[in-house]
Amino acid sequence: MMAGRLIVLSNRIPTGEPPSGGLVVALHELLAERGGLWVGAASLFTETPSETFQPVECDEGYEKATFDLTEGEHANFYLGYANSVLWPLCHHRTDLLKVERCYIEGYLAVNARVARMLAKVAGPEDQIWIHDYHFLPIARELRRLGVTVRLGLFLHIPFPASCDIAALTEREEFHHWVAAFDLVGVQTEADVARCLETYRGHPSGELLFDGCVKFKDRVFDVRSFPIGIDGKAFAAAAEETPSHDPVRIPADARLVLGVDRLDYSKGIPHRFRGFGAWLDRRISDAPRATLIQITPPSRKTVPAYQEITRELEALVGHLNGRYGELDWTPIRLIERSLPRETLAPLYRLASLALVTPLADGMNLVAKEFVAAQDPEDPGVLVLSRAAGAAEQMTEALIVNPHDAEEVADAIERGLSMPLEERKARHTALMEVVDTTDIFAWGSRFTDCLSAPGAKPGVAEPLQFLRELRSQYEQSLGNKMTERAASRQKPNFGKAPPGTARQKEQQ
Ligand code: UDP
Repeated sequence: MMAGRLIVLSNRIPTGEPPSGGLVVALHELLAERGGLWVGAASLFTETPSETFQPVECDEGYEKATFDLTEGEHANFYLGYANSVLWPLCHHRTDLLKVERCYIEGYLAVNARVARMLAKVAGPEDQIWIHDYHFLPIARELRRLGVTVRLGLFLHIPFPASCDIAALTEREEFHHWVAAFDLVGVQTEADVARCLETYRGHPSGELLFDGCVKFKDRVFDVRSFPIGIDGKAFAAAAEETPSHDPVRIPADARLVLGVDRLDYSKGIPHRFRGFGAWLDRRISDAPRATLIQITPPSRKTVPAYQEITRELEALVGHLNGRYGELDWTPIRLIERSLPRETLAPLYRLASLALVTPLADGMNLVAKEFVAAQDPEDPGVLVLSRAAGAAEQMTEALIVNPHDAEEVADAIERGLSMPLEERKARHTALMEVVDTTDIFAWGSRFTDCLSAPGAKPGVAEPLQFLRELRSQYEQSLGNKMTERAASRQKPNFGKAPPGTARQKEQQ
């Protein structure tokens, strides 16, 4: 199906051998099968960045290369615009936006340089798959350089709401950045809806048909590709019984687990307050539970991340002081990363997992916890409705992470859930894990990127698309139009796209 090479660009590339982690293994296998090039940032800073990629040794049937970054570029491009502007923006935290001129300048400069390097190596038949928010402007840069190959973006984090995009100084440019791709892949249908809504609300945007957007002279597709895990590998790792009890909680206590990178989007303080509400209700001789929260630090130099550490430590101190007993510490906070070999058996030991982010693209921990369970005696997943995973994993106990009492209810219900119900829920959740396998995810994206007979990337195919739309709508009795209309519901009171009323409002 694909004539040329697959070129993958991600902020990081694996350097260790063999590759580990679901996403890394999936991309590695895709590239090994099809051949191609995987590019990411070099791990060491340089003073004078090169204008060409630096090859990295790789004898797996594809090439690997890095691009240089100076320390200043890392501060402005990565810690600055990517993680102090785009990350909070996409996670509904515009209050945390740190707007600095040097951030956007650094971000654009790095993207422009990487685009120049990609333009040098991309052949006319190649396809370029860009990963994540670090490289939003790169397709526009590549188009400016005359690159016409198919360009796909997969956004691992939520697509921002249009009201949040309004907080960006580069609000107008943002529309151009995204529209320069041919395929915009997102995690969930809710993300697709937000993306469509963003363009529907722009005077130059028009929704052509289901998931296809016209913006000025560009036409592009928006599709959801829910990411998954390598469930079998995770289940196998979970079955490796540890030689000693790794947690040593009191024999009469149940294990409740939280596993999240230290990030304000993960809702860890809210989770602790929910667990606190459960502790508060617990009568003194009722069964005990210990919440072990594994939290590897990330982006330590960004101020918002330092604040959350202080908040967590204060909450743990307060709750343990108030509810702890001589032989029981209700919450244990571990600010360190654990390897998968330790994590997987821990998931299996837990009676309940609290996966309660305030906003999350997907959340792989939810899928890993399910994959790691013993099907004959599975633990219960409590899942935030704000995690992308909740769109598929409907048999979890779904909670509003902001509501401490609701989280406490779910803990209570989960810890006392009968075996039959736990098994039934686990079977349904396991089906989701199996059907959204990480390997299928990679091929779905690349198949879709290479699929269309006509390239929906420039203005000429519009006539073709209009004809296709009309044939499609006739054959389906306008079902697509109805679906598109129902997706537009979040924009309350707005007229359908392209009508006079919409234009007036803008
Ligand atoms: N993880 C890990 N060790 C830890 C904590 C987390 O290996 O101590 C892994 C976890 O198994 C999962 C990933 O980090 O694969 C977190 O992915 P997720 O989608 O849940 O959140 P993200 O950090 O990407 O926002």
